[in-house]
Amino acid sequence: PSVPDVEALQHEDVARMLPVPTASSDKYRRGVVGVVAGSARYPGAAVLAVAGALRGGAGAVRYVGPAGEAVIGRFPETLVHDGPPSKAGRVQAWVVGPGLGDGPGVADVLASDVPVLVDADGLRDLDAAVVRARTAPTVLTPHAGEAAALLGVSRDEVEAGRLRAVRELAARFGATVLLKGSTTLVASPEGGVAVRANPTGTHWLATAGSGDVLSGLAGSLLAAGLHPADAASSAAYLHGLAARRASPGAPVSAQDVAATLPAAWRDVVS
Ligand code: AMP
Ligand code: MG
Repeated sequence: PSVPDVEALQHEDVARMLPVPTASSDKYRRGVVGVVAGSARYPGAAVLAVAGALRGGAGAVRYVGPAGEAVIGRFPETLVHDGPPSKAGRVQAWVVGPGLGDGPGVADVLASDVPVLVDADGLRDLDAAVVRARTAPTVLTPHAGEAAALLGVSRDEVEAGRLRAVRELAARFGATVLLKGSTTLVASPEGGVAVRANPTGTHWLATAGSGDVLSGLAGSLLAAGLHPADAASSAAYLHGLAARRASPGAPVSAQDVAATLPAAWRDVVS
């Protein structure tokens, strides 16, 4: 059997992928991201996912969940909604899962006809048949433990065969899969697409909340209309670059990664 190559993501590729607003851009057409995240226990995950989306160039962010006050307190530009995601108004992409606990919204979002990124608690008990039946793209962003649970294997097995795991998940779910870790891998469900490996990043990214920032950022790129594999891989690239830039060779907080995303973006496009 032929094993496709892993290609390292190149700076110039990412520069070409990133969306650029034009004179005729307006906030709705640039991309509205819906974020379904947070819980009484983990309100901060909602704030960090919204931060990633706003600093990742979203035209607007709609937040649906119980952490609206915390989100508005940090980001008053957010549109906060009560009730189910499907009643929140039009979005161009959904991000669901960070800090969600067993909160509602996953099924509602998966039933939508726009791209959906599923992370963290949204990945728990995710039904492959439901994801495969979707009419719009789905992106899954598990770390090794979440990937292991989805595959029904041990975390050690995923770590020992990360390339195989990311390809297997993409095939099983018919989704683009971003497998997080010391090297992030992105696999597409379409045949013949090589797995992309992200060359940026720092081991200091192994810190609470950094994944929540990544999911919001990738969601904003999905909402801007990027191909799902481009949205996922350019998000990983910018996220890693932002972490390094925020704090070269030293500890970095998830908030600081989010705050540095615009500077990382500038590094890529200039
Ligand atoms: P999460 O596990 O959801 O909080 O996401 C953690 C983020 O940090 C992801 O972007 C991972 O790729 C990244 N990360 C975790 N561990 C490492 C590591 N050892 N080296 C580099 N990046 C890491
Ligand atoms: Mg996470």
